[in-house]
Amino acid sequence: MSTLSRRDFLAASASAIGLVLTACGGSKTDGGAADTAADAVAAEYTLVNEGKLTCISNLYFPPFESMDEKTGEPVGFDIDMSKSLAEHLGLEVNWLPSQAFDSLVPTIKAGGTADIAIAGMTITDARKAEVDMSDPYVDSNQSLVTKVGSEDTLETLNAAEKKIAVQAGTTGADWAAENLPNATIVPLDDIISAMNGVLTGSYDGLVTDLPVSSYQIKNSFTDLQIIEEIPTGEQYGIAISKDNPGLTAAINAALQAMEDDGSRDAIETTWFGAAL
Ligand code: GLN
Repeated sequence: MSTLSRRDFLAASASAIGLVLTACGGSKTDGGAADTAADAVAAEYTLVNEGKLTCISNLYFPPFESMDEKTGEPVGFDIDMSKSLAEHLGLEVNWLPSQAFDSLVPTIKAGGTADIAIAGMTITDARKAEVDMSDPYVDSNQSLVTKVGSEDTLETLNAAEKKIAVQAGTTGADWAAENLPNATIVPLDDIISAMNGVLTGSYDGLVTDLPVSSYQIKNSFTDLQIIEEIPTGEQYGIAISKDNPGLTAAINAALQAMEDDGSRDAIETTWFGAAL
């Protein structure tokens, strides 16, 4: 057990990160201090691979995470966030292969595979009962999507013969079950399959996070349309094991440092064209 109170630890982490940033700023004489500071932060948490921030996600959720078409490497908003978080903590980033969204929280809870799940994951009470969630880093809402030309509405889609695709284990799936109780809800592994299925007519509609549907409709699925924007007021957080509270504190301190030094604005501008 750490002898520092959480508040003291946060203060210590923040100042340690400050020192690391100072060192990155180019003053060579700070090198020793930065090493000590990074060590001080590292000493307060465990990592599955030494010196690395090992990350998991479901890599079918652009622009937050997807796989580069040529290299297969993870790319996206959350990937850039993970790189910057790692940098601020003096760590390397280590991405594991994509896994099912509904397996991310259980994997983090079980421990030993990854340090964090960063996956456009909404902070919910159910998830907080299983894992720690970091401070929020993105606001999000839901959306109801159909094919261009479809005349369906929220009302007409609420019928047994209407098939609504969702990603299994998501807040979109929960919203659909609650608000389209008469429709046939089809849980899928990922939202790209759902989008393709709506295009080909396998499903009448889908429910997913609004930033993802907006981005996809603008960039690739131009034959889909958003028929409802649903103000669920969700916030994304990073999932960390409850056995590793020092890492949650360090991630929160790094998120704050990234807010203060403009790193988050830069990542938001890369993926959304403007700071959010
Ligand atoms: N934000 C939604 C959730 O947390 C969807 C996340 C996702 O599909 N990657 O359930």
